[in-house]
Amino acid sequence: MNKNILIVYAHPEPASLNGALKDAMREHLLAQGHQVEVSDLYAMGWKAAVDAADFPRRDAAARLRVPKDSHAAFAAGALTDDVRAEQDKLLRADALILQFPLWWYSMPAILKGWFDRVYSYGFGYGVGEHSETHWGDRYGEGTLAGKRALVSVTAGGWEPHYSPRGINGPIDDLLFPINHGVLHYPGFEVLPPFVAYRTDRVDAERFEQTRAALLRRLDGLWSDAPIAFRAQNGGDYELPSLELKPGRESGGAHGFGMHVAAAAAVG
Ligand code: FAD
Repeated sequence: MNKNILIVYAHPEPASLNGALKDAMREHLLAQGHQVEVSDLYAMGWKAAVDAADFPRRDAAARLRVPKDSHAAFAAGALTDDVRAEQDKLLRADALILQFPLWWYSMPAILKGWFDRVYSYGFGYGVGEHSETHWGDRYGEGTLAGKRALVSVTAGGWEPHYSPRGINGPIDDLLFPINHGVLHYPGFEVLPPFVAYRTDRVDAERFEQTRAALLRRLDGLWSDAPIAFRAQNGGDYELPSLELKPGRESGGAHGFGMHVAAAAAVG
């Protein structure tokens, strides 16, 4: 069945490794009959920083309060055109793919700024009932529930540097704030990430291997099991503290792994 896929891509150089992987994904998905939209953030000149200009109808004399102003602008349909266009792309998409280089153990600032601005209050957060027994529709519920997400990231470091005992920290821990905090939060089912290591020097043969491995992952976009993040409103957490209930630590006794239901899905 044909699907809509949104690729959000963050690299300043079109001829980069990241650019080549983004192009390969686009061509592969189009060849399969899917619709593909690409948000090429550098090419778009994406404004990364949230500021008062994001809320053109706000009272300019009042103190800027980002959540409140964001909520009011969202409710009034008064967000800026660039943000609304990206929200519409997300709503159209069956799957979101992020393609970026790992910069300082996270996403490039321009991509972080895409989330800061596109996930307005009422869209990315502040959705659903908020009470001591229901802390909003989030972590598996929310505006983007039912859609899938995949992080495809290139790293300069070697794979063992990111292993469970590696000095950089386990890659699943480093990506937890993105996979769980940014993608699962508004509802996405998040697939295990595709990570290409040691990417600063890649010859033609390794490029081809990397490209082929990434495209194989795309073939599992609809069938691969997502990371088994626990649902916030599924009974695993105490209320109102939202601490994992005793005895449910199958993914580890502390740390990020606790919030994954099956130990096998971590690390
Ligand atoms: P490029 O520089 O574009 O290319 C990398 C290699 O791929 C080159 O050898 C290129 O020739 C080759 N290549 C082969 N075939 C192709 C093709 N068809 N198209 C394009 N290229 C091809 N690394 C970490 O591990 N952790 C960090 O925290 C981290 N922080 C960083 C912070 C900053 C600010 C920067 C600049 C780098 C950081 N790095 C870090 C390294 C970074 O992750 C890598 O530089 C990046 O992932 C490489 O991807 P690229 O697209 O920029 O590669």
